Amino acid sequence: MAKFKEKENAREVNVSTKVKQDKATSKVNNGVFVYTGAISVRELASALNVQVSDIIKKFFLQGKMITINTILDDEMIGEMCLEFGYDFQKKVIVEAENFEELVIDDDPSKLKERPPVVTIMGHVDHGKTTLIDAIRNSNLVAGEFGGISQEIGAYQKEINGKKITFIDTPGHEAFTAMRSRGASVTDIVVLVVAADDGVMPQTIEAIDHAKAADVPIIVAINKMDKPGADPERVKQELLQHDVIAEDYGGDVITVNISAKQKQNIDGLLEAILVVAELKELKSNPDRYAMGTVLEASLDKQEGPKATLLVQNGSLKVGDYLVVGTTFGRVRRMTNEHNKVLDIATPSTSVAVLGISEVPLAGDRFMAFKDESEARMIATKRKQIKEAKIRSKANNLTLEDLYNRINEGNMTTINIIVKADSTGSAEAVKASLEKLSSSDVRINIIRAAAGGITESDIILAAASNSIIYGFNVRPDARIRAKAEEEKVEIRLHRIIYALIEEIQAAMKGLLEPVFVEKITGQADIRRLFKVSKLGTIAGCMVIDGVIKNHSLVRVLRDGLIVYEGKLASLQREKDQVKEVKKGFECGMVIENFNDEKEGDIIEAYEMVQEEI
Ligand code: GDP
Repeated sequence: MAKFKEKENAREVNVSTKVKQDKATSKVNNGVFVYTGAISVRELASALNVQVSDIIKKFFLQGKMITINTILDDEMIGEMCLEFGYDFQKKVIVEAENFEELVIDDDPSKLKERPPVVTIMGHVDHGKTTLIDAIRNSNLVAGEFGGISQEIGAYQKEINGKKITFIDTPGHEAFTAMRSRGASVTDIVVLVVAADDGVMPQTIEAIDHAKAADVPIIVAINKMDKPGADPERVKQELLQHDVIAEDYGGDVITVNISAKQKQNIDGLLEAILVVAELKELKSNPDRYAMGTVLEASLDKQEGPKATLLVQNGSLKVGDYLVVGTTFGRVRRMTNEHNKVLDIATPSTSVAVLGISEVPLAGDRFMAFKDESEARMIATKRKQIKEAKIRSKANNLTLEDLYNRINEGNMTTINIIVKADSTGSAEAVKASLEKLSSSDVRINIIRAAAGGITESDIILAAASNSIIYGFNVRPDARIRAKAEEEKVEIRLHRIIYALIEEIQAAMKGLLEPVFVEKITGQADIRRLFKVSKLGTIAGCMVIDGVIKNHSLVRVLRDGLIVYEGKLASLQREKDQVKEVKKGFECGMVIENFNDEKEGDIIEAYEMVQEEI
């Protein structure tokens, strides 16, 4: 710790907007046309010292109609350079806001060994979860048992004095997206294959992911305790997928284990260390951190919370961050044992508080020395992302979906998903995407954890998307904004009902349904505990009207905390039938006493409505 303190100011920055970028404009240098990106016909003509009309003519002869202002892509630029006798070279300039593209060239003397990051993959029921548990509980340090938070998405294990970072992969089919991303933060994949079942479809899928990410595989042949266990058969089946075990002349290590009986788990961990050593995994801990979001959610008390995997550099409390398109400052960091950390070194995953919005799992993050720089980069990234989404947006609403399909056109339906956790957002996203058919493409332009915000409405209006809220509720202000922008918000609590609704819309079979109508909302200003009644919430009605005994829900930061019925509504000391906007009242909710000041009580009715 003290060692790092001394080096407080010694960390290298990753990227800086203050360093003048080599903004080479497009020009010819020794017969080579050097350019940095798409340029117009006018610019190309002037750089190559030819007439604009000559370029237009060349394209015309190829059947391409262009004008002086047409922006040329790389292929067209290359073609024209060759036509006019120039070589060409594209110079890639990485702008600070595009930090995903950044390739860091660390001074080799500063590189230190880092733990491997391992993902466990395999077919359903082959024992991934059991293996994850067995590893968690192996070589337990005293007091560690049961202390590993399931939420953090990763944990570290130590064997022979070396650490290994494991990523918890969710097994459910709807999480395919997360799993494929798992391979991209991963150094090594442990492929679990049940010895009694052999290679199955998801085994092959996992092999494909690992190969696509160029990540080495270690095969854990599991369930060796079972009578039908046949490891040789597994190895032979793997041959067909170019996974060649060592005893078949290849370089893939296989380890026979029983996750359930906790047999040979150490053997597997040692094999991981062998592969890690071969890969010479290194990074420079003395630079500002870069890495990836593993999981993110909105914590009702603490605000946006993200689990970050530090992949290079070190993250410290107080660091300024850009996470995806969001600005932040590390307020608090904890590891998988809920231990508060001041510093997170390479290959460590930490839960971080202090980010202004909930990022998306898979987003990249970078730490900055300078606050204003980080803020500026976050804003710029947000603008770029929204501009990109807008440019590929396609107009549609749920109502006219069927008509559009009937016209025989391939139709795209844009959807924004907001849910109570990243996990459910991803699950909803994956389930919706599966509904895509030859007639309709479901395009999820945002799927994130958190309440529906004004920025969602703006994005939906710009891209003509429908917003699906899953276990979240917009407040009165957001509803008003949605109405003003003519954005459709649909709210669901069960994935299956949401899927059915879209399927019905696709078939033109939207039934009249009971929908809820919000009658009013009230703000909780003070709480009174009364022993007989429970909690009386002293409220101000801020919108519409609240009726006694109506259906209500309690909202905290846009998330539903409780749903139930109003047991009592009073003004002063009297029970009343209803209370209108602008008046104070006291409310008691049936079977609920955990209101907090600042919560919103929303009253609603169910009414029949044609969609
Ligand atoms: P996942 O779907 O890949 O996560 O698989 P699980 O870890 O949930 O395991 C599926 C089933 O296989 C469970 O009933 C486990 O108890 C069982 N199982 C897992 N590992 C072993 C093993 O080594 N031996 C035996 N006999 N059963 C196992």
